[in-house]
Amino acid sequence: MTLTPELAARFISIVGEKNALRDAHDIEPYLIEPREKFGGKTTLVLRPSEVEEVSAILKLATETGTAIVPQGGNTGLVGGQMPDASGEQIILSLSRLNKIRSVEPSGNLMIVEAGVVLQKVQEAAEKAGRLFPLSLGSEGSCQIGGNLSSNAGGTAVLAYGNTRELCLGVEVVLPTGEILNDLRYVKKDNTGYDLKDLFVGAEGTLGVITAAVLKLFPLPKGKGVAYVGLNSPDDALKLLALAQSHAGASLTGFELMPRVGVEFSVAHTEGVRDPLQGVHNWYVLIDISSSRSAEDARETIEAILTEGFEAGLVEDATIADSTAQEKSFWHMREAMSMAQKPEGGSIKHDISVPVARIPEFITEADAAVLEMIPGARIVSFGHMGDGNLHYNITQPKGADKEAFLARWGEVNARVHGIVRAYKGSISAEHGIGQLKRKELSETKSPVALDLMRRIKTSFDPAGIMNPGKVI
Ligand SMILES: Cc1cc2nc3c(=O)[nH]c(=O)nc-3n(C[C@H](O)[C@H](O)[C@H](O)COP(=O)(O)OP(=O)(O)OC[C@H]3O[C@@H](n4cnc5c(N)ncnc54)[C@H](O)[C@@H]3O)c2cc1C
Repeated sequence: MTLTPELAARFISIVGEKNALRDAHDIEPYLIEPREKFGGKTTLVLRPSEVEEVSAILKLATETGTAIVPQGGNTGLVGGQMPDASGEQIILSLSRLNKIRSVEPSGNLMIVEAGVVLQKVQEAAEKAGRLFPLSLGSEGSCQIGGNLSSNAGGTAVLAYGNTRELCLGVEVVLPTGEILNDLRYVKKDNTGYDLKDLFVGAEGTLGVITAAVLKLFPLPKGKGVAYVGLNSPDDALKLLALAQSHAGASLTGFELMPRVGVEFSVAHTEGVRDPLQGVHNWYVLIDISSSRSAEDARETIEAILTEGFEAGLVEDATIADSTAQEKSFWHMREAMSMAQKPEGGSIKHDISVPVARIPEFITEADAAVLEMIPGARIVSFGHMGDGNLHYNITQPKGADKEAFLARWGEVNARVHGIVRAYKGSISAEHGIGQLKRKELSETKSPVALDLMRRIKTSFDPAGIMNPGKVI
């Protein structure tokens, strides 16, 4: 449907002139996304602050066949939050739907609206003496509605699970404008289909999440973070098993980093330095949260490292001796994605394989990539404890950026082929969006794809919710 001035005026009347952006300059930030890859256009951004306004917008959109693109913090990495190039799709920004409705420490839960920034959720939980464990490099700007819609992972999945596992219930506006109140407060509820789980991870294709009940946890009494130099992913895997046997559920993070990634982070990120003197082929970051005490966290991490040294797995290691140092170790890891940019083009993958097969995967994928692009600099880093790697390939030194990036599809196909052979996933945590839509259709079975299409059609018969994404 063409977004005529008359139709735009009907949408604008729902939120009021002040909360409808039409000026190109005001709209621009909503069209700039982290990958600088998905150019999209729009002439209208709506910024509702009440669920009823979202409902009226979707009702009108279904009546008139107008496409709606929900947008949270605009930090998504697969283009799900971007409109297409037609200029006819409306961005529905959830930023003003940002109330924390309640924090209930005794029940270990909180109810928040979709537009609350993740860091604010963490802070509100901490103020109440609780932990909301979801943690991502983008937490200062991503919103809980975006986290739920992309089922974000992050750095504490090993201990607490991904966003899906941190959510008890949701409130959703359906494309018809109906409001589904599925704000459940209980862990155990076997009353039919779990509708919440359809919206979590749907990337805005089935409805708009407006609020959620989130799970809270006790604040850890002690933290221990170690930065370890080692020789190979195989040694890292053995160290992971050792860490798990010592720490059990206290092992919050186990991140793998290659030397080249450390060099990029140090070279291109202010305040990042390599905490170890020598050079190592690989590094891991071990994060322990103890429910007992700071001493317990320290002792656990020391025991892991001592045994790791004795087993010949650890070449060198250092333990953070302050909160500031813990943050600086993490900063090295979190900077690794952005630090690839100044080195030229980067072909990205967000894959998972069974944890035990990570070393084999790296060996096989590296050989395949280097055969295709000799001199490519492979920055395969990430959440090893979850079997999830950001298997990124930076262009060879001095190569032509555009020519290198033109091989994105070809390289993806080869790497994803290996992922499939290992029974892994081509999108471990970032979602499908626009980026992996074609590959989804090549990866899922025809029966699964057909079911997904039928679900989409039954929720959104007019096809107004984030068209061109996922399915
Ligand atoms: C530096 C950096 C680090 C990152 N690290 C991680 C990481 O460790 N793990 C990880 O999983 N991701 C990571 N990401 C990706 C991104 O931050 C997450 O996917 C995040 O959850 C997106 O939240 P957002 O609010 O920015 O959503 P957006 O980007 O605005 O939207 C994401 C998707 O959700 C939909 N959507 C947004 N809000 C709603 C809503 N209320 N209802 C329905 N649909 C909605 C959008 O249409 C889109 O499809 C990182 C990104 C950056 C830039």
